[in-house]
Amino acid sequence: QHQLVWFRNDLRVRDNQALSHAVASNQAVLAVYLACPQQWQAHELAPIQADLIERRLVALQQQLAELNIPLLAVHCSDFTSVPQCLLQLVQQYQIGAVHFQQQYELNEQGRDQAVQQSLSQQGVEVVSYHGDCILPPGSVLTKSQQVFKVFTPFRKAWLSQLDEACFSPLAAPAAVLSSLLPDSFSKLLAKPEPIKLDYATSNSSAWLCDESEIIQCLRDFSAVKAESYQQLRDFPAEPGTSKLSPYLALGIISPRQCLARLYHDHPQALESQQGGAFVWLSEIVWREFYRHLIAAYPQLCKGRAFLDWTERVNWQHDEQLLKAWQQGQTGYPIVDAAMRQLAATGWMHNRLRMIVASFLSKDLLIDWRHGERWFMQHLIDGDFASNNGGWQWAASTGTDAQPYFRIFNPTTQGERFDPKGEFVRYWLPQLSEIAGKKVHQPHSWAEKSGQYLAYPKPIVDHAKQRKLALSLFEQAKANM
Ligand code: FAD
Repeated sequence: QHQLVWFRNDLRVRDNQALSHAVASNQAVLAVYLACPQQWQAHELAPIQADLIERRLVALQQQLAELNIPLLAVHCSDFTSVPQCLLQLVQQYQIGAVHFQQQYELNEQGRDQAVQQSLSQQGVEVVSYHGDCILPPGSVLTKSQQVFKVFTPFRKAWLSQLDEACFSPLAAPAAVLSSLLPDSFSKLLAKPEPIKLDYATSNSSAWLCDESEIIQCLRDFSAVKAESYQQLRDFPAEPGTSKLSPYLALGIISPRQCLARLYHDHPQALESQQGGAFVWLSEIVWREFYRHLIAAYPQLCKGRAFLDWTERVNWQHDEQLLKAWQQGQTGYPIVDAAMRQLAATGWMHNRLRMIVASFLSKDLLIDWRHGERWFMQHLIDGDFASNNGGWQWAASTGTDAQPYFRIFNPTTQGERFDPKGEFVRYWLPQLSEIAGKKVHQPHSWAEKSGQYLAYPKPIVDHAKQRKLALSLFEQAKANM
């Protein structure tokens, strides 16, 4: 009987356990991607990310065809229709086993349980794999078998559990023998079905979709930039980070490939746990940490804060302020430049994500969930676990989060991390006359030099809002 590989957020041919196992069965293999536009809408999938998925699927279809594996993109509106959709495919193409890589979000888990149940009833084998994490959720626990709630001990335990397999990504599988192909598969290979997702898209062409080119980016980053990562990673004007997040989010590369490449280039850094390559690896571990957390605490997927008491923070919703933040019109240059980078490119530097998230929650006093949603709607690397983790970190509502009394000052953050003002001037051309770091306080520059600035005045007073934020958190805490 034939094998089915159900592609989800593992849109790659190399280091893909589901694909490699299906091919190893020595039977004909069909691949499918299920487009769920209604579900995606509910999950706030960004049009730019949908575009990258679509482009990637077209490339994947060609890659798989070279392995004699046809790829279909099938429509199912939402997750509830997935079991039925798969059942039809299984019957139509005489499938004996379905292989897929696990996802850890609550709705995805529910969908997979329903699929498991309905397919097993029909005698179809369902096999799942953990390729989205180097060490799967539930496998890194404290001595008393609890999930870690603090990152540093999690990382220590995580590092101590790495074994040979974690450093050995799988190669692309060999092609399926043509002699194994039934007519229906040969027909699909001869005339591939078009890939269309039926979801709003916006141009993602500034990002790659070719797997080999993306692996080359990983190699270049590891060889050339990983060492200086620690020094440069906080400065948005520097190309100091890898920009691999969109590819990791869609699984075009795997975290295991990242680890293996780093180890290949920087064995000492990983062994001594020091230096840029190790700091970069720590970011991959953060990614895993947040995945382990959402798997262990389903309330995170239901819009709940990790720290219960922070649900009592009395956020001060103001639609005007929210709009100003979304549109990069807050009068704080580093915040506005960052929000424009997001709108224009679908990506934002990590330091800036922290600054704008802190600004929304602690300066505008707006519930972090509005920011979380806006990010998902616009990010090319939108990823539930990392986004939720990042927002709850910045809003002080999460596990191992920024303590609520440590509040970023957006002006000094700008002066510190964009010291020459280059990033701000690039995204806010109306401030291009202001040299150096003075650009972070444009109105005091304008006053002193008697110039008119077509740039808004700060929409809130940071010192005042900081005090208010502290009191809102303290009130919530006092009612514990
Ligand atoms: P690098 O610095 O090169 O890091 C390498 C990889 O490690 C990244 O590609 C990413 O996969 C992972 N990583 C890095 N930092 C983090 C982190 N803090 N948490 C989890 N994983 C990390 N990342 C996403 O991938 N998707 C999101 O939706 C997302 N939303 C965020 C929201 C907020 C409020 C914050 C503060 C952070 C968010 N991050 C998110 C994490 C981080 O900002 C991005 O992963 C990073 O900026 C991507 O750029 P890069 O690939 O150059 O990262």
